[in-house]
Amino acid sequence: LVWFRRDVRVHDHAALHHALRDSQRVHCVFIFDSAILAHLPRRDRRLDFLLASVSELAQQLHALGGQLIVRHADAAEAIPQLAAELRVDAVYCNRDYEPQAIARDSKVAQALAADGRRWRDFKDQVIFDKNEVLSLSGQPFSIFTPYKNAWLKRLRSDTGGAVPLFAVDDHAARLAPGKAAAALPTRAQLGFEASNLASLPIPTGSTGAQQLFEEFMPRLASYAHTRDFPGVKGPSYLSVHLRFGTISIRQLVRHALAAIDSGQGGDGAAVWLSELIWRDFYSMILFHHPHCAAQAFKPAYDLIIWESGPHADASFQAWCEGRTGYPLVDAAMRQLNQTGYMHNRLRMVAACFLIKDLGIDYRRGEAFFAEHLNDFDLASNNGGWQWAASSGCDAQPYFRIFNPLTQSEKFDADGAFIRRYLPSLAKLSNRDIHAPWRASAMALQMAGVQLGEALAGSDAGHVYPLPIVMHDEARKRTLTRYAVVKAPGASAPDGR
Ligand code: FAD
Repeated sequence: LVWFRRDVRVHDHAALHHALRDSQRVHCVFIFDSAILAHLPRRDRRLDFLLASVSELAQQLHALGGQLIVRHADAAEAIPQLAAELRVDAVYCNRDYEPQAIARDSKVAQALAADGRRWRDFKDQVIFDKNEVLSLSGQPFSIFTPYKNAWLKRLRSDTGGAVPLFAVDDHAARLAPGKAAAALPTRAQLGFEASNLASLPIPTGSTGAQQLFEEFMPRLASYAHTRDFPGVKGPSYLSVHLRFGTISIRQLVRHALAAIDSGQGGDGAAVWLSELIWRDFYSMILFHHPHCAAQAFKPAYDLIIWESGPHADASFQAWCEGRTGYPLVDAAMRQLNQTGYMHNRLRMVAACFLIKDLGIDYRRGEAFFAEHLNDFDLASNNGGWQWAASSGCDAQPYFRIFNPLTQSEKFDADGAFIRRYLPSLAKLSNRDIHAPWRASAMALQMAGVQLGEALAGSDAGHVYPLPIVMHDEARKRTLTRYAVVKAPGASAPDGR
């Protein structure tokens, strides 16, 4: 029995490949796990993405002569039950590295063993996992660059540069047949309402991933120069597909390496490959340091006292809703709320603003991103937030504090991105759009912009908030707040 989870595809699927090779008959199952779904908002783009992608997977397996069994249940109980019902010898799946998934899988493996069945899990989601890339002293890395160098060295020596893919066609006749493609539970049966996914240009399933991949290939060579500008179509937009495994990481790395080796990849291919390695890096960090899910990677940072109380709550709310008065931050948060995507540069800017301008605990922002990002991945999200908070493994130093205004002027110089998400500011000049509070009364009037109180839920119509905080003052407060991390002998409240 092959259990599909974060790997909703047929092509280059490690567990499916091994199951077909090892067995005479292979069943396939996807479970809409009630233990996971219970924690999601009732309108969730990810649920809609998954429904469409699982439906495509069911059709693809059917076209190969098999059938996808689809259930809505608590997976930890349903898998051993189904394995017993089908009387399979073993359950095969691709490994998941999140602490809760590890606990669930170990429960399933024990239940199967008690019944005399085997549990086999495979590396599929990342290129290297667990202890495959270690330092010379045999320790997991905590700094990215040496990790990346060791990662590349191992990849070259293991594969000669051409990452092998897992074929599934050879033994497809071993798929247990079904009469028709499986009927999926409806969104309503799963307890959800429609999200706005259908109105967004986010193609689903492995065909959608393939489409984005092909669109990105001609942009790969220029990625290094375009990736930082949110108003430009620079990155691949593949993160949601990597999250749900509708595309395989091996396919992407193989392609990036080929582009580098052939000299066709310009500067872009190597930079893009680096980003894919960051993904492996954060997965490895979470695996070896699961405490990061709730606490700072560097214990001293748990001593920081964050802002709390009604004013902090109001500031947090304004940040969530894109009402801080800093157009780039607000446009970024609106992109997230409207589409479930946020450009990488903006994730850094928005996260730094919450932590270092508003003084709010990075975990509150991390949780908000977790709820809204289509590509939410515990390891990468936690890694990104701890980077911004300076508490992470290879983070920016705590005294490096992004200036939201200069970030805006540098990375959205002509305001194209701001205008897209804050149409009420669209008529401001390229200079004023980054800081409407600095514009003259005449310029504001001509652009039809009225400025109002920041925390009062403004930006109704043409009222745009005044800045919620002045950056220079916030910067000084942050340096004071963070002084605790450099105190001699600073350690976490629990003594770590
Ligand atoms: P591309 O630029 O095309 O990059 C290709 C792929 O590389 C991405 O799809 C992603 O899988 C990987 N990647 C790129 N940058 C990073 C990075 N910094 N760390 C880890 N992997 C990376 N990424 C997530 O996938 N899920 C998250 O929940 C997430 N949360 C983040 C939170 C913060 C505060 C920050 C600063 C970054 C976060 N990232 C997260 C990383 C990054 O922003 C996204 O992966 C990227 O913006 C996705 O867009 P793309 O697919 O177009 O990326």
